[in-house]
Amino acid sequence: MTTIELDNQYVMHTYGRLPVVFVRGEGCFVYDDTGKEYLDFLAGIAVNGLGHCPPKVVEAICNQAATLMHVSNLYYIAPQAQLAKLLADLSGMSKAFFCNSGAEANEAAMKIARKATKMAGHPEKTEIITALDSFHGRTLAAITATGQPKYQKYFAPLPPDYKYVPYNDVEALKAMAGARTCAIMMEPVQGESGVHPATPEFLRTARELCDQLGAALIFDEVQTGLGRTGRVFGYQHFDVVPDIMTLAKTLGGGFPIGACLAKGKYADVFEPGDHAATFGGNPLACAASIAAVTEIVEGGWVENATKVGAYLMEQLATLPGVTEVRGLGLMIAAELEKPVAKDIVTKALSKGLILNATSDNVLRFVPPLIVTEDLVDKAIAIIREVQQ
Ligand code: PLP
Repeated sequence: MTTIELDNQYVMHTYGRLPVVFVRGEGCFVYDDTGKEYLDFLAGIAVNGLGHCPPKVVEAICNQAATLMHVSNLYYIAPQAQLAKLLADLSGMSKAFFCNSGAEANEAAMKIARKATKMAGHPEKTEIITALDSFHGRTLAAITATGQPKYQKYFAPLPPDYKYVPYNDVEALKAMAGARTCAIMMEPVQGESGVHPATPEFLRTARELCDQLGAALIFDEVQTGLGRTGRVFGYQHFDVVPDIMTLAKTLGGGFPIGACLAKGKYADVFEPGDHAATFGGNPLACAASIAAVTEIVEGGWVENATKVGAYLMEQLATLPGVTEVRGLGLMIAAELEKPVAKDIVTKALSKGLILNATSDNVLRFVPPLIVTEDLVDKAIAIIREVQQ
């Protein structure tokens, strides 16, 4: 049986897969099982920040795999402690909990916020406010936090006490927050809904409300974190520091790892028994992440995201039928006049360019942070060609 036949028969159909089997990757390119080359402007959906098989991450994984892959979190793990310090130094947070994905990181964040209000003697403060059109992952609590009914509709009953405000609606946020607010959780730039940056005023208001109400400000930086927006963390564009921050995607340079970082009183909320993940923070994932984060920050790739991101935005604006280009760094969307985004994605794939459509009218671009202006030119030429 071919890979596609095997998959169709034995893998649950949770993804609308395109008919390509990728078998190898290097830098900004991946190769399918016929040897065909593809320029990757999706990067595993903002995961392969350093491109495919980045040498320093590969080396760290190989060395660590040959040394120690897994031990229980009942013991101290050197790469885990080192990664926690590295992230604390970079982020302004003080402690980390490690897990395996973005949804899990958000679960940890929401559990910290809920426990913190109980520890403060306010068990009635249980409401978590998130934004409409947000995306926070697929566990039951994460789809509940995700303000999109289409992800929730088959899975009721959902955990109670979640409320949703229109993103960037300051007055709605002020009206909704109150004595029962436990946390406000926001993406600094909404990704899945088509790349919508927050307004500084919206995030500032969220910060002020949390301070007034004794609630936790959580930033979901699963997609925006680690250089994607042209800063190490998305929040740095807005001068608003959260209490809790979640990371995943680029954090492992392609290896699965998630993290929930917290500061102040939130850093010390969890005690033994409150939360855990068998694989969370294992030596292999942490070694990969230390190599990836160090290279992203020291290799100049955050600055490259700003520079090449600006060039990509400029070039996208020259394409016919593009009505708006928005984003930060290398997290960019092009809004199209006509509902042809999915058609462009399919045709571009056949020409060797991997793109993504977040809706019929929106193309999303999250290429590796190591992408060059020449590769942007190549991608734009392919899009121009398939638009004809
Ligand atoms: N949060 C944000 C902002 C995301 O973009 C995603 C995934 O796209 C998630 C959370 C969920 O991450 P994961 O799929 O690793 O659980």
